[in-house]
Amino acid sequence: MAMPKVHIARHQRYSCILCGRCCRRFQVRLTPAEAERLQRLDWGDEADVPAEFHHRIGEHLYFRRREDGGCVFLDAGGRACRMHARFGLGVKALTCRGYPHNIATTWPGEVSVVARLDCPAVQRGQGEPLTANRRQIEALVAELGTGEGFTSRQLQGLNRPAVTAMTAALVSLVEPAQDDGLSPGRRAYALFLAGERFRALGASFLNDRDTLAEVMPSLLRSVCDEARDATPGYLGPFARLLFREWLAAYCRRDEELVASGVGVRLRRTAALAGYAFGLGTLHSIGAEHPAVSLRRVGLFAGRRGREASSHEAWAAYRQLIVARLEGPQFFGVTYYDQPFFVGLRALLQSYALVLAAARCHAVWRGAAVIVADDVHYAVGAIDHCLGRSPLLQWPSWRRLEEHFALPRYGRLLQSLGWE
Ligand code: SF4
Repeated sequence: MAMPKVHIARHQRYSCILCGRCCRRFQVRLTPAEAERLQRLDWGDEADVPAEFHHRIGEHLYFRRREDGGCVFLDAGGRACRMHARFGLGVKALTCRGYPHNIATTWPGEVSVVARLDCPAVQRGQGEPLTANRRQIEALVAELGTGEGFTSRQLQGLNRPAVTAMTAALVSLVEPAQDDGLSPGRRAYALFLAGERFRALGASFLNDRDTLAEVMPSLLRSVCDEARDATPGYLGPFARLLFREWLAAYCRRDEELVASGVGVRLRRTAALAGYAFGLGTLHSIGAEHPAVSLRRVGLFAGRRGREASSHEAWAAYRQLIVARLEGPQFFGVTYYDQPFFVGLRALLQSYALVLAAARCHAVWRGAAVIVADDVHYAVGAIDHCLGRSPLLQWPSWRRLEEHFALPRYGRLLQSLGWE
């Protein structure tokens, strides 16, 4: 099979900073062939090498974890992989070698590679440009194989130039050539408005490349003007309840329960209902989350008594949007097999979820202003489930995304407090 054309995110950087987080946080699956191969590794006289390093949960094999949640191959400091240190990267299981790359077939014969924002090194842009690792990434692509590419159902009648023109226009809104005076929150709203305008124009208009190029500048200007001046009002109690539930669904980490019994799982599912009323802490459904209740955070108090965050604090969020748009990795196989406009809306709604999560983190720190650390946590938490959650793949969550279409999305942002 011919090697596909591999597009690697242009602006992302990554080199492992040995934080060990992925090896503590994720349940790492391996194939039976990998298990057999790793079983045969000759560790010589190295002490304390785990003999029973994997176990079966349901239909799959996973690396065993220690009591602190770390993989049995993590070193004593909990930061580096012993297998990597002894044998090198190439020996490890595909999942270990692949992280944090999200590799997806996009157009037929083409693959896009984006780095996951739940990796601290990627969020902070630490290390080499992703493109510097092209050979290693291409080897991963060859090993994984490629899919068929976007289907006509996923494309909703759109041709490739239309998809490219829309995503490029949205990227230009995220990173304007000159300061247009939009705050991070107003900019996120402008992006959302642009996505909704594109949807309303329909495929036959958008596929007319010349006409689209003609109207694009005025369309982008008008959404920026609308976002700058918008006072959409506030959400009612029912919509607030739904939003808290939606946030909790993104924060629920079922992978932490892979080896747990049915009772624990049922209790966690039941706990989800409490979040709608602001009860409980997100920490109890995911170890990475701050131990602060939504009620204490006062999500819908707008920015009362809170200072505005800086433009710089939101760099990780801009990185998320640009990487996903340029992928494009926001619909089809990277978003629950959903069509273009469904995935686009979900991506552009992510600002509300990131803002809420960042605010929880800031309140947990005892701070009144959101800073880069809060946004890093929030972007990692939300990106972790954006298109990758077993829970969020259910159609009922798509109805929630529709519920927060216009005009409610503006009210949601005003209720949360524009940053
Ligand atoms: S085998 Fe190594 S890289 Fe893979 S999860 Fe375990 S410690 Fe991490």
